[in-house]
Amino acid sequence: MSTSPRPFNFSAGPATLPEEVLQQAAAEMLDWRGSGMGVMEMSHRGKEFTSIAEQAEADLRTLLAIPSHFKVLFMQGGAIAENAIIPMNLSRGGVVDHVITGSWSQKSAKEARKYCTAKLAASNEADHHTTLPAHGSWQLSDDATYVHVCSNETIHGVEMHALPDLAALGSTAPLVIDCSSHIASRPIDWSRVGLAYAGAQKNIGPSGLTLVIVREDLIGHALPDTPSAFDYQVVADNGSMYNTPPTYAWYIAGLVFQWALKQREVTPQGELTGLAAIEARNIAKAQLLYDYIDGSGYYTNKVAKDCRSRMNIPFFLPDDSLNAAFLASTQGAGLLQLKGHKSVGGMRASIYNAMPLAGVQALVDHMKQFAASHG
Ligand SMILES: *Cc1c(COP(=O)(O)O)cnc(C)c1O
Repeated sequence: MSTSPRPFNFSAGPATLPEEVLQQAAAEMLDWRGSGMGVMEMSHRGKEFTSIAEQAEADLRTLLAIPSHFKVLFMQGGAIAENAIIPMNLSRGGVVDHVITGSWSQKSAKEARKYCTAKLAASNEADHHTTLPAHGSWQLSDDATYVHVCSNETIHGVEMHALPDLAALGSTAPLVIDCSSHIASRPIDWSRVGLAYAGAQKNIGPSGLTLVIVREDLIGHALPDTPSAFDYQVVADNGSMYNTPPTYAWYIAGLVFQWALKQREVTPQGELTGLAAIEARNIAKAQLLYDYIDGSGYYTNKVAKDCRSRMNIPFFLPDDSLNAAFLASTQGAGLLQLKGHKSVGGMRASIYNAMPLAGVQALVDHMKQFAASHG
C-alpha cells in the first residue's frame, strides 16, 4: 500500500471517505472475516450479510439517537427518487407545503407536483438563495400532509442550524427534511421531524444507498400506484429487503458509522465522543475557512452568516478570470475537486465529516499563497 499521503478531496459528492474505512474495506474485499466471500458476493439473506445489516442499523440508531418509533429504511434511488417516493407515500394526493432555500428544495417541490398539490410556503429566491426565510414568514397550509425543507443546501451552502418547530408555527403537519449533505454531521432534533432522508454519498458512504428515517405512524398510506419497492410499508415490513438492497453500500455505510462512533475530540469543555466530537470538529473546520475568507479581502462567500453551511462552502475569487489558474494550482497542491457548481459559479469546498482539520488548513494555506501571488 502507498505510504504517501492521499490528496485532500473537496468533492460535493460522491465525496471523500475516512481512509481507515477504505483500508478496512480493502482488507476485507476478498474474504469478509473468514467467510470465504467478499461482501459483494454474499446473499443479502445469508447470516453474514444479515449481521452486517443489523449492526449498521444499530450503530446508526446509536450515532443519531434515533427514537424507537422511527423506522430506518435502506433504499435505492437517491434523494432525487425520494422527491417522488415521499409524496407517493405521505401526501395522500392532497396538499403539501414546500420551503424553497436553494436548488435542491426547488427540485423537490417540482417533482412533488406530479403527485399532489405542492404549495410554496416560503422562499429565499429574491436573495439568490443566500439567506433563510424567517420561520414567522412561512405560509403554512391548514390541510398540509407534510412540510418539506432541505436542511442543508449543498449547492448554495445554506444550512438550517435549527429545524423549524412546526407546532410553534401553528401547523400539525410532520416535517420532512432532505438532510443528504449534512446527515451525521450534527445531532437531529427528532421531536421536530417526521421523516429525514439522505443519499449516502455525501457523509455516509458510496452512492446507491438512500436512508429514510420515518416516524412509523406516517407510513401505510401510499398512493395505489406506488411501486411496491418504493412503498415504505412494504420496505419496512421486509427489513429493507423486499428487493435486493445495495449491499456493498450498506456495508461501507456500516463501517462509516463505526468510524463515527469511535471519534474523539478534546475540547476546552472536555473530551467529546461520537457525533458530539464530529460536530465540534465540523464547527472548527468551517470556522477556520469562513474566518479566513471573510478576513482575506480577496475571497468572498455571499451567504448570510447565520445560515452558512458547515459542510459546503462556496467562495469566489475577485475575478472569474482567475478561476482556471486557481483550480490548476489547487490540483497541483493535492487539493481536489474545488470547482463550484455551474449554477453558482466560483469555487466550493465541501468539508464533510471525513475531511480532517488538516485538509482545511492546507486549503487555507494554499488560498493565502494564491492570493499573495495573484493580488
Ligand atoms: C446530492 C443531493 C441530492 C441528490 O442526490 P441523488 O443521490 O443524486 O439523488 C439531493 N438533495 C441534496 C440536499 C443533495 O445534497
